[in-house]
Amino acid sequence: MSEPEPSIFTLIIRGEIPCHKVYEDEHVFAFLDINPFSPGHTLVVPKEQAITLDALSDESSAAIGRVLPRISQAVLAVSGTVDFNVLQNNGEAAFQSVSHVHFHIIPKSEDGSGLAWPFKSTQLDPDEGARMAEQIRNYLE
Ligand code: AMP
Repeated sequence: MSEPEPSIFTLIIRGEIPCHKVYEDEHVFAFLDINPFSPGHTLVVPKEQAITLDALSDESSAAIGRVLPRISQAVLAVSGTVDFNVLQNNGEAAFQSVSHVHFHIIPKSEDGSGLAWPFKSTQLDPDEGARMAEQIRNYLE
């Protein structure tokens, strides 16, 4: 099978497109978002070019999980914030614009910069909830 076209993040990881890098290890690369929602907005990206999170290998997932808290601590310390969101979009309808898994670390400051709440929730129906949870448990077995 032929290699996929490199994503813009793969080109950044390779050093072919410039970025403001903040972290790198064997599996993970992190840099400042070019259109930040707030100062310090950082993207944490697996070097593996999976498009969405559900397609990411266990190894890359573990590597991301290991460093997300530590990179968050650094972003918060430097941006002088305490509150933050970790945002991870998958698919166009879910606001993903770059087809390479990435986690946003977005400081939320008291002046209001950062994410605003855009979500609509509903009430979980108990029967539907029981059915859905059972199906997911069965899938995971
Ligand atoms: P998403 O909408 O979750 O796919 O987020 C993609 C993010 O990548 C956006 O916040 C963009 O601002 C950011 N982005 C796109 N190109 C670059 C780039 N060359 N350097 C840094 N961030 C980028």
